[in-house]
Amino acid sequence: MHKVLETLIDLQDVDTRLQRLEAAKGDLPQRVQNVSAQVEETKTILEQKMAEKETISSEQKTIHTDVEELKQKLKKYKVQLYEVKTNKEYDAITLEIETSEQKIDEQEYRNLELEEASAKLDEVIASLQEKIVDLSELLIDYRKDLEAKLAATKTEEEALRSRRAEMVQNLTKPILSAYERIRQGRGGVAVAKLINGACSECSSRIPPQRALEIRMMDRMYLCEVCGRIVVWTQDYQPVENAK
Ligand SMILES: [Zn+2]
Repeated sequence: MHKVLETLIDLQDVDTRLQRLEAAKGDLPQRVQNVSAQVEETKTILEQKMAEKETISSEQKTIHTDVEELKQKLKKYKVQLYEVKTNKEYDAITLEIETSEQKIDEQEYRNLELEEASAKLDEVIASLQEKIVDLSELLIDYRKDLEAKLAATKTEEEALRSRRAEMVQNLTKPILSAYERIRQGRGGVAVAKLINGACSECSSRIPPQRALEIRMMDRMYLCEVCGRIVVWTQDYQPVENAK
């Protein structure tokens, strides 16, 4: 059991270092992910706005064609107006002229509305494009930072992971799973030390008799308050210092 407890102490040490490496990356991985999602989202909105603009300009083309046709008709009617023989004919053509003029007015008004909408869309599109450029620059910066951090700690992290894999081999499944369970429930720290008669992690007093037993290091004792594995490490040298 002495050996097992020593392995647990080493394992805790490795896990704490790994946790610190992870913390050193900070929220960069999250930030990279967030900004990248924002870029994608903005691109989607931009595509929608471009499509809206396309719809508007195709309606404007149709209006332009219609108005040209109406103007041609109007010219024809006006010529016909000089050739009428009866009042009835005159009235009929006048009505046609009025109707065509009204239609032209309506179409031109609609065209103005579309032009306004199109100008507004241009502004939106320009600001979206600007936003994409800004976000993309930010993303490049975050990615660079993250890569630099990853590169700096890569070797250390790999070494720790391979040491961890070896240690884990020396532990039985129940002990390893107890360790993992406590670690996950206790902020990454499963192993506490007996220091001055107290648990090093939660500072609660450990009864003297229990403390004596813990010093023997021949059984696994859990802190009654925080539930961590309490060990005695007075003469124990962590592996990396004992080299
Ligand atoms: Zn405790």
